[in-house]
Amino acid sequence: MRWDQLADNPVRARDSALFGTSAVTTRTFDTPEFRGMTFHEVRARSLLNRVPGASRVPFTWTVNPYRGCSHACVYCFARKTHSYLDLDTGHGFDSQIVVKINAPEVLRRELAAPGWRGAHVAMGTNVDCYQRAEGRYRLMPGIIEALTERANPFSILTKGTLILRDLDLLTEAARVSEVGISVSVGFVDDDLWRTVEPGTPAPARRLDVVRALGERGIGCGVLMAPVIPFLGDHPDQLRATVRAIAAAGATSVTPLVLHLRPGAREWFMEWLRQRHPQLVGRYERLYAAGAYAPTWYQRRITRQVHELAAEYGIGPAGPALPRRIRRGDPEAAEGTERMEDMGGAGGSGGTAGPTQLTLL
Ligand code: SF4
Repeated sequence: MRWDQLADNPVRARDSALFGTSAVTTRTFDTPEFRGMTFHEVRARSLLNRVPGASRVPFTWTVNPYRGCSHACVYCFARKTHSYLDLDTGHGFDSQIVVKINAPEVLRRELAAPGWRGAHVAMGTNVDCYQRAEGRYRLMPGIIEALTERANPFSILTKGTLILRDLDLLTEAARVSEVGISVSVGFVDDDLWRTVEPGTPAPARRLDVVRALGERGIGCGVLMAPVIPFLGDHPDQLRATVRAIAAAGATSVTPLVLHLRPGAREWFMEWLRQRHPQLVGRYERLYAAGAYAPTWYQRRITRQVHELAAEYGIGPAGPALPRRIRRGDPEAAEGTERMEDMGGAGGSGGTAGPTQLTLL
């Protein structure tokens, strides 16, 4: 693909302090889909990120072709990672998207390196690799092809229905290696969805993805995340969600209660003050100890969801990411990845902070 063909409206090549490199091209596109969004194209030096050994995440290697996410979930705890790029963690995170335009070719090179042992590669761990930008930049087909050529196992976690575009490629990959797909659906309440996940496909459309993958013989688990206290945790809401997940044919369901880490917490609480001011005090008490709801609350949600899953006959966990996530505790989603992969950000002197992994 020639990038100059994509340049509907190239703005300028930035001598950027943001990314520690001058090799950043900033573009906007005059289509309704991308109105108000800015894309910062960088050439990555490497793509495979090793998760530090101390992390409790159930995978060692990740690939993230984008930074920032137009799915714009209010609670997204990858927001803080935008601050490492000197970008705004609020609307900036939703609309200033960093694109590693050479991701497939870099990954192909790294997978061919003599030292690479074919470890599992997790995608969608930081931001959604099937966010809106992927419709334009089409990085994932090349990434999947590179992994398939090496029969390298991988998993994808997404809220994006765009993944269905790559169904043939995923089917082909699943023929030669272990492929784990997981879709994130924390609730099926459309009113809640419109306000808290405004850029995402509707929960019902995401469950269509689960259905379509199942019809192709690719088992798909659902990460029921986040379960949002006092807004999405009523027993009737949990039941409706698990029932819909079961009806879509999910191989597993894994509940995860909302985290409110720094970066996400401020943004979410401001949203709460505007939309549900009566809940602010309850949230301050529930999250008084930090980023996580108390263990008793997490256990209660987990037990309720597991009971509902048994009632609706959701089967054992699928082969890859869903199963591995379920083995961990609710905090197993935490982790860090290094920043050297992106055009030099943090690569010199380690000045950039770590990037937290996000479960979508
Ligand atoms: S939670 Fe996931 S889908 Fe939502 S904005 Fe963050 S990265 Fe994107």
